[in-house]
Order: sequence, then structure tokens, then C-alpha cells
Amino acid sequence: MNSICIFLGSNTGNDPLYMQAARETGLELAKRNITCVYGGSSTGMMNELADSALGAGGKVIGVTVQALKDKEQFHKGLSELHVTPTMHERKKMMIELSDGFIALPGGIGTYEEFFEVYTLKQLGFHSKPCGLLNVNNFYNPLELMMSTAEGEGFLKTPYAESVSVSGSVPELFDLLLDTLDTPAKLSR
Ligand code: AMP
Repeated sequence: MNSICIFLGSNTGNDPLYMQAARETGLELAKRNITCVYGGSSTGMMNELADSALGAGGKVIGVTVQALKDKEQFHKGLSELHVTPTMHERKKMMIELSDGFIALPGGIGTYEEFFEVYTLKQLGFHSKPCGLLNVNNFYNPLELMMSTAEGEGFLKTPYAESVSVSGSVPELFDLLLDTLDTPAKLSR
């Protein structure tokens, strides 16, 4: 796997566990030589992710939108920064640049991005692995929602077949890599 897109909060969250998770994710990407694709922000968990991956010698690609760049809300030290005219084009580019997707805890921006890639996967527009980092049990309410949706007959594909979930960063990376074919696994 060459690149993973990370969706995560533009805020820090109240519990230090969230910033720690962003840091650990950046380090894990660099350690595994996987390029980090993210939203390019210089705030909150997003900034922590980029700083930790870059600090460990990793490659980080930011994809931001012109309006946010104009407000100076972008990381100045990235390996690459792409700027798109609209949020739609931004998400499209993040998806195209990435071989897989992980959502860390965050707010509505994070959920919107994660659900778009999950929806596109359910509809067969891509088959890239999707994961949720359930640090501090943050995503337990979402897990409950998804099992309710599945039990009530609203999912085409079983949730567990489409989304890998773990509270541990290395375990989640292993789960994602396990869903890939053999040649990609060799780059572990
Ligand atoms: P949220 O979870 O609401 O904090 O939003 C996080 C997601 O929204 C990120 O993955 C970004 O793609 C996007 N986002 C929110 N704020 C910013 C920002 N200041 N700069 C770049 N992207 C942002």
C-alpha cells in the first residue's frame, strides 16, 4: 500500500488521547513507508498527524481548498500541497490519491468524508480498504448505528466486510493491509 488518506478532527478534542492517536498514526505511516494524504490543515489533530509523520521522515500530501488556503489555514511544511477550487474537487482528489482510508475521531467534516468513501465502496465505485480508529471508544455510537442499520435491512453489504475497526493504530493498519491483494501486502 503506497498511500492512506486520514480523515480526522481539525480540533484537538478534550482528551489528550485524541492528539496522541493523531501522533501515533503519523508515526505508523512513516514507519511503514506509506504516504499520508490528508486535508492539509495546520490545526488540531490534522496538524499533529502531519507533524509527526514529517518528523519521522514520512511523506505527507495535503489537499486543501482555495478558500481555506486564503485564510492561511494550511500546513507550510508539507511534502506536497494541492489546492482545489471547491470542496467537492478536494475530496475527489483525496480519494484518487489514496489506496485506503482511515477516520480518526473528529467532527462533522470527518464523518462526511468517511461516509462518502464508505458509500462509494458500498456502491462499487472503488474497492479500497476503509477503517475506523476507535480510540477511547469514540466510535461506539456509530458502531451501534451501523449494526442497527444492518439488522433493519438497510445495508447492501455487511458492515464488517466494508469497514475495519480497531482501537489500536498498528492493528488497524494490519487489518487494512490484510484486505489487500498479495503484491500490495509485500510492501508491508
Ligand atoms: P472536523 O472533523 O469537522 O474537524 O473536520 C475535519 C475534516 O474537515 C478534515 O478531514 C478536513 O478535510 C476538513 N477541514 C476542516 N477544517 C479544516 C481546515 N481548517 N483546513 C483544512 N481542512 C479542514
